[in-house]
Amino acid sequence: MQGKSYTPARKNLDEDFPLRGTVTCSDCGNVLTACWTKGRNKRYPYYYCFSKGCESYGKSIKRDTLEGEFADFLDDLRPAEVLVKHIQQMVRIWWDYRASQTKERAKALAQRSQVIARKIDSLMEKLVEADSSTIIRAYESKIKKLENRTGCDR
Ligand SMILES: [Zn+2]
Repeated sequence: MQGKSYTPARKNLDEDFPLRGTVTCSDCGNVLTACWTKGRNKRYPYYYCFSKGCESYGKSIKRDTLEGEFADFLDDLRPAEVLVKHIQQMVRIWWDYRASQTKERAKALAQRSQVIARKIDSLMEKLVEADSSTIIRAYESKIKKLENRTGCDR
């Protein structure tokens, strides 16, 4: 609660005390532990500092109090304005980069398409002049393949 935080010490944190091992004592800085305390008729959930020598040693904080304060703390967290501006700039740079990449790719595809169209035209001219049925079939097959690469339909 004083700004220090630690990653949970255990993977399998007790579902009853999600902040156990995460929130630290404001006096000694060690992580708080938690347990159920027996009352007259029922059990009550508490967080504790059990660090020997700490002035808060053994002092309890009701689970609802601590977790409520923690929720308020999270609500108050806001990114700094300078950080927000920095992120906006980064997104803008990334966006421009992607846009220029897309433009380059479109240009390259258009060039490729023109090259293939020229090849098809050249094969068409040869096809018209061919007199062997075997050569004609070979040209037709080659043209078909090129057409499939451009996606055009003749
Ligand atoms: Zn303590």
